Amino acid sequence: MTSIAANLQAVRARIAAASIAAGRPPESVRLLAVSKTWPAASVREAVAAGQRAFGENYVQEAVDKAAELAGLNESGLEWHFIGPLQSNKTRLVAENFSWVHSVDRLKIAERLAAQRPPDLAPLQVCIQVNVSGEASKSGCAPDQAATLAHAVAALPRLRLRGLMGIPEPAEDSSLQRSRFVLLRQLRDRLNAEGLGLDTLSMGMSHDLEAAIMEGATLVRVGTAIFGERNYTT
Ligand SMILES: *Cc1c(COP(=O)(O)O)cnc(C)c1O
Repeated sequence: MTSIAANLQAVRARIAAASIAAGRPPESVRLLAVSKTWPAASVREAVAAGQRAFGENYVQEAVDKAAELAGLNESGLEWHFIGPLQSNKTRLVAENFSWVHSVDRLKIAERLAAQRPPDLAPLQVCIQVNVSGEASKSGCAPDQAATLAHAVAALPRLRLRGLMGIPEPAEDSSLQRSRFVLLRQLRDRLNAEGLGLDTLSMGMSHDLEAAIMEGATLVRVGTAIFGERNYTT
């Protein structure tokens, strides 16, 4: 029997070990607990174990869960939207999340900017880049990322923080690392162009060590914290 608290402790230890191996301070990597498909009770357990930032993929599921957990708002819960975003869902995201990692076209960013309530802090945004070519449909093409990033950075009510990527699972670890390197180099180039990006959102349960080695500042971890997801229930 493992508990969410024990799993969180193990994931934090993995992050710390990988950071140290990469010559980086462990505090330089944030942990986003991906709670999609898991009930509010699971989030509550993670909060009791000290976790504050949670990632969700499905807008309505997340909004319902956050409402159930509204009593915990004083603990400083932070909701991150990390799933594919359709234009008819942007308003709910703009009104209910602190971060969006999956902006991959200007139209979506413009809607989020227009719909972000003025009494909330600016929405923290990452641009999702398709680092695996045709293997994945989500994310903008790497050669379009710079144009999109500069346009998003100019929008009101949003704050562009960095880039997000989801490499396809690869047997070949050097291929996998090359996807993370691509994202880091893109970030470095955008910073050379003056964008001041502080976030590289990359690495999940199975590849967080490789991602941290290549500069991840935020890892998105679901299975290693909450267990295998069951999509049929
Ligand atoms: C589900 C998901 C994760 C978490 O994946 P695990 O393999 O369960 O750690 C991370 N990022 C995104 C975008 C996801 O959709």
